[in-house]
Amino acid sequence: MPHNENDLCPVCHVGRLRLRPVTYTQVYYGLLVSVPNTPAWVCDVCHTVEHDRQSVQRIEALMEHAGPPHRRADRRPAERARTRLYPTDS
Ligand SMILES: [Zn+2]
Repeated sequence: MPHNENDLCPVCHVGRLRLRPVTYTQVYYGLLVSVPNTPAWVCDVCHTVEHDRQSVQRIEALMEHAGPPHRRADRRPAERARTRLYPTDS
């Protein structure tokens, strides 16, 4: 649904939706991803936030391109275990 400066808020039917930068948050592969300064439509009365669809699509495309995050916490114990199994004597 496209918005413009004259759009009435669909929630309170009193305020107007205005394009404002907000922080977009989403859980991605179990990690909380937050993107500050994402344009969204915000009601100037009840502060309902409707994210700009084009911006959300761009963020989702970026996250899909990046793929699942590497889990550094899972990798460290394995490296430690390997050091213990094969100690280097010098
Ligand atoms: Zn409103």
